[in-house]
Formats: sequence, C-alpha cells, structure tokens
Amino acid sequence: ENPENCESGGSRILVFVRLRPMAKKEKEAGSRTCVKIVNRKDVYLTEFASETDYLRLKRLRGRHFCFDAAFSDSTTQQEVYATTTTELVEGVLQGRNGSVFCYGATGAGKTYTMLGTVENPGVMVLAIKDLFSKIRQRSYDGNHLVHLSYLEVYNETVRDLLSPGRPLVLREDKQGIVAAGLTQYRAYSTDEVMSLLQQGNQNRTTEPTRANETSSRSHAILQVVAEFQIIESGKIVNRVGKLSLIDLAGSERALATDQRSQRSIEGANINRSLLALSSCINALVEGKKHIPYRNSKLTQLLKDSLGGPCNTVMIANISPCNLSFGETQNTLHWADRAK
Ligand code: ADP
Ligand code: MG
Repeated sequence: ENPENCESGGSRILVFVRLRPMAKKEKEAGSRTCVKIVNRKDVYLTEFASETDYLRLKRLRGRHFCFDAAFSDSTTQQEVYATTTTELVEGVLQGRNGSVFCYGATGAGKTYTMLGTVENPGVMVLAIKDLFSKIRQRSYDGNHLVHLSYLEVYNETVRDLLSPGRPLVLREDKQGIVAAGLTQYRAYSTDEVMSLLQQGNQNRTTEPTRANETSSRSHAILQVVAEFQIIESGKIVNRVGKLSLIDLAGSERALATDQRSQRSIEGANINRSLLALSSCINALVEGKKHIPYRNSKLTQLLKDSLGGPCNTVMIANISPCNLSFGETQNTLHWADRAK
C-alpha cells in the first residue's frame, strides 16, 4: 500500500519510543536522567548526566538508537496518537486489520500511553474517537457498528475484562481464532469508552502480594471491530476492519531466570507470550514464510492482526531514571530488533 514504508519481503513494523517524565518522587530521591532524545528520532542512553557527555557517547556502539520516531517526555497523548496510530485507523476503514503494542518494563508508561487518564486519554480512547468521526463521515447510509472486546492474557489464561468470570477457551473457526463467549460490547459514542476501559483495567489480574496494583504479568488486549457500508463503483460494499491495541505485560519478567518459585512459573508463562510475540515479529520482519503464532495465547489471539503490509506498530516505553538503566537498555535493544 505504502511502498516507502514497506520493504520487499518482510512486513515493515513501525517502531516508536516514548520517554516518560521523571516522577516527582524520583526527582526528590535525586535520580538523574539517563536518556536523551534528539531530532525526534534518535535516542541516546547514557549513565552520565550532562549534555556534552551524551554527545560524546554518540560513537559508542549500542548506546545510540534510531527509530521511526522517538517521543520526548513532553510529548502529548494526541501527538503520540497522531504519529503512531492514525494511519492504522485509516487502514481499518479500508478493511485492513492493524495492531499497536506498548512494550516496556513496569512503570515505564505503557498503561498511560494506551489508556491514559480522563484528562489525558491515551491511544485506545483517541483511536476509537477518530474511528467514530471518520466512520460517520464515510458510511453510505450513516449505519455503522463498532464493537469492543477487552481481554487479558495472564499466565497463558484468557479472561474477559468486560465480563469477568471463568477463563475463556480459544477456538478456531472460519474467521480464525476466537475466544468463545467473549463480550462484544457495542459502542455508540466515545464518551462511554473511557469508563468502560477503566473498569476493564480494574478487572485485570492483580499481584497476590499487592492487591491494589495491576499485575505486571498481565497483557491487556482491546479489540475494536468496525463495520460499515460504502458505495464503490456504484455498488454497496461492506467494510470490516479490526484494530487491536495491546498493553503488554512488563518486559522485565521476560528475562527472569529463577526457575524454582511460583513467581518464576508465572514469569515463565509471560516469557512464553512475550517470547512468542518476539519470535513472530522477528519472523515477520525477516520475511519468513512460517510465523510461529501457535506458541502462545497472545500470538494466537493476534494472528489475524499481525503481519501483512504496514499494519503493526510498536511503542517502546522507557523511564528516564538512571536506576532503570538496565531495563531501558533491554527495551531499546528489543525495539531495535523489531525494526
Ligand atoms: P506501566 O503501565 O508501564 O507499568 P504506567 O503507565 O502505569 O506504567 O506509568 C507509571 C507512572 O508514570 C504512572 O503514575 C503514570 O501516570 C506516569 N506516567 C507514565 N507516562 C507518563 C507520561 N507520558 N506523562 C505523565 N505521566 C506519565
Ligand atoms: Mg501498566
């Protein structure tokens, strides 16, 4: 569709980085920033604090990264949305599925980017808003359907976040892999969506040790299906497209090595979904014929939304704090391989 963005053979995945602001607590504790973003696409990672130091590091291998865009800590939600996701919404309206992932360590800003707050709604809400406004302009008779499903993959178990209960079973049918009994919530306006998603987020599995916090091991997937009609060459044509927006589990667990405790069993399962996602993305980027979707629940669920030309977007979230240096480096390396 867009030759400039698609290399022949593999799928082109757009990779973005978003730096969150330093938290008040971190500042008060005397944390220093270890990330510098330049030219809206270059990311310098440094253990030094001063401006000249990071420029000197330019020549050091592995500490400079370049992405499709890199968002500094003052970038607005709207800017992030417009740069990363508007085109995918456009694709969905043309009948192409798409997906947007937020990847990164716990506390790096994934949920803020995806869900956001009432005052500063994130990609999920802004995408639905954009979808509604475009679909209303374009649908032939004004009729349209927008369905939302919001689900979680935790420990290789799939749960409905809009109607919590027993785990859902994945089934393969003519449309692909579906979670049997998953709620398809019909949305009529953007206004209702934020509170719906906030409620859904409350239903995400919590750490047994920290009852009020969302588990860093849970992947949340919002699927938005849009259906409408257009007139094409004098005929009425149905259009259906699906956008998947994914707030991934914390990437710090992906490298967990302790194989003994219960925690590490859960960690290993997250490993499975995150590793499977990495394998699929690498296979897609390399243009391989076989994409190993079957290896995890996450990749099975996203089988019809990953791959194809230009329809996958990755937002790697990072913290500026020098205490998170290692995690930030891991995230940047991971994102670099997804390009
Ligand atoms: P994650 O979901 O990756 O664990 P969060 O999205 O919960 O991380 O972010 C951690 C904290 O940082 C939250 O308090 C969140 O509100 C804040 N935060 C993250 N990104 C931003 C941002 N771009 N602007 C302002 N606050 C942010
Ligand atoms: Mg989160």
